[in-house]
Amino acid sequence: MPKVVIDKDRCKGCLLCVSFCPQGSLSGGEKLNRSGARPARFKKGASCVGCAMCALICPECCIEVYK
Ligand code: SF4
Ligand code: SF4
Repeated sequence: MPKVVIDKDRCKGCLLCVSFCPQGSLSGGEKLNRSGARPARFKKGASCVGCAMCALICPECCIEVYK
């Protein structure tokens, strides 16, 4: 399965990636990062089709998808 890596300290918590993931695999996190935002996270046990929509839509370019 593709691997999704989110740079939690650069994430601004806008949740655009959460809205655009066709698998519903991302969600807002609970812990605050260094900037006081709640970074998105990949849900435990979720699936990923490697479409990279999350990476494309992220305004901070802090998501990488490895296939
Ligand atoms: S789109 Fe980018 S900045 Fe916004 S929550 Fe997702 S990872 Fe964070
Ligand atoms: S690559 Fe596609 S399926 Fe995987 S988490 Fe990102 S938007 Fe969702």
